[in-house]
Amino acid sequence: MMEGNPKVVYIHGMRIYFASGNDHKRIEMMRLLGGHTLVLPKDEGIAFDPDETGSTYIENAIIKAEALYSIVHAPVLSDDSGLSVKALGGAPGVHTARYGDEVADHALSSRERYMLLLRNMEGATDRSAVFTTALCLILDDNRRYIIQESCEGAIALSPSGTSGFGYDPVFWIKEAGCISAELPEGEKDRYSHRGKAARLMAALIEKEEGRL
Ligand code: IMP
Repeated sequence: MMEGNPKVVYIHGMRIYFASGNDHKRIEMMRLLGGHTLVLPKDEGIAFDPDETGSTYIENAIIKAEALYSIVHAPVLSDDSGLSVKALGGAPGVHTARYGDEVADHALSSRERYMLLLRNMEGATDRSAVFTTALCLILDDNRRYIIQESCEGAIALSPSGTSGFGYDPVFWIKEAGCISAELPEGEKDRYSHRGKAARLMAALIEKEEGRL
């Protein structure tokens, strides 16, 4: 017979494989989705590094989700994001994470990447730009969902702020009227491409959860 009060453990939310190797991204996405557990392939010793050969964010999100689903055969979420600058003909786009690598002899820091962007935009009068995130959710063989959202803004003339990551110090958010890195931790989620996409995805998961 069991002694004392048996512990009641309430398990809320879904367990979803997240097609990434990045712990920071996992933490952020779990916060944005609220209440679901994201499992990275590496947590279970799964080698996962598919070639992101797509020409769009959606294509790359699908490549990552399909690659992981073919291994785990369980619910999978993937994301792909990037920055598209009008004066640069939409670049860096799907190459945002690797921007500048082709001319560098070392792995560039985030600051080196956004400073390169500022140099490449010298003299540009139209500084409009947009951040985009595509999310792909595969629940089973017959249920696949894509959500793409964006955050409109412009590339600042010089960096400002200390929050966030990546290009945040040079991205001015139109809706917020300030530079992304100037927003207090968490507030960026209200305006960001990833925040908008994740909120829609959370609503979709909640709706689908009961059907699993
Ligand atoms: P990923 O596909 O989510 O890894 O995004 C590609 C690259 O875009 C990242 O390496 C970042 O440099 C940049 N990026 C994506 N989202 C943001 C953001 O919210 N702020 C600043 N940079 C971002």
